[in-house]
Amino acid sequence: MSILLLASGVLLAWALWYNRNELHPRRGFVLQYHSVVDDWGAAVATSPYERLFSVGREVFDAQMRALAGQGYRFISNGEMVDALEGREGLPARWVVVTFDDGWRSVYDNAFPVMRELGIPATIFLTTDPQSEVFTSKAAVDRPLTEAQVREMAAVGIDFQGHGVTHGDLSRMAEAEVRRELTESRAAIEALTGRTVDSYSLPGTTRHTHDLVRVSKELGYQSIHTPFIGAVAPGADPMMVRRILVEGTFGVEELFANLRPVPILVRKVISYLKKLPPRILGPRIWIPIRAFLFNSPLAPIFTTRGLTFLLGTAVLLGGAMAWLVSR
Ligand SMILES: [Zn+2]
Repeated sequence: MSILLLASGVLLAWALWYNRNELHPRRGFVLQYHSVVDDWGAAVATSPYERLFSVGREVFDAQMRALAGQGYRFISNGEMVDALEGREGLPARWVVVTFDDGWRSVYDNAFPVMRELGIPATIFLTTDPQSEVFTSKAAVDRPLTEAQVREMAAVGIDFQGHGVTHGDLSRMAEAEVRRELTESRAAIEALTGRTVDSYSLPGTTRHTHDLVRVSKELGYQSIHTPFIGAVAPGADPMMVRRILVEGTFGVEELFANLRPVPILVRKVISYLKKLPPRILGPRIWIPIRAFLFNSPLAPIFTTRGLTFLLGTAVLLGGAMAWLVSR
């Protein structure tokens, strides 16, 4: 019994330490968006993955105004990195708004409210407009044009890297990784006239020691990941956690997703979500995932659906264990 108590104590202490950012008084959030579409229902009907990767125009607008209304300060990625490295302080409530890939819908539907509210958002841009990330979603959205990038950069939108091809950097030889990181940076700097020293992991790229080493050697200051979580002083800028804002969130669920317990649940879910591709391998998993997302089960594969599923499984498991132990 005392061994069990000790083990639970150690586990709890580890869990608290591992999740210390979620309770830090100066924690903030890096929001991760992709597309901001005119008609969310139409986008989801065209491609079911847009449940996760698109938000509706009115929803985005309402989320930005609600964050401002709740006293959140919009800071830039550069300001956050400076604060993480101790060069600057952080406000009490802060968010960094980011977009992956570089979609035209961000120019059309997110840029107007960001300009109005002075939001120094970061767009992580994949520089090859023929990349599969763009061609595969052509029915929903298109890549930003060079003129749109220049126009947004001129009024304070920050453009950083997201690969040339959007390929998996963790599966490439080092020379290829260097080419991706160097060429995408050169292309963006030529367009915007501003420094590129950050990128977000494209597609299925895993966060590896080698990737961090190469990125540091090339002068990168921060790497944004799909890992869920808050960011607090002391966090590693080479592994920035973000909050993926799903299309179903609206305003209330966005705020709910910034609280420590939902973040912990989402961490568990995102860990569980990584298991099938890891066990089955991408070749078997990708067709299964496509089948599931195109089936009537698709709404389950959002955070809301998976939280419900996980809660039900825990309750049923607990009830079974109780019945068996009687
Ligand atoms: Zn991407």
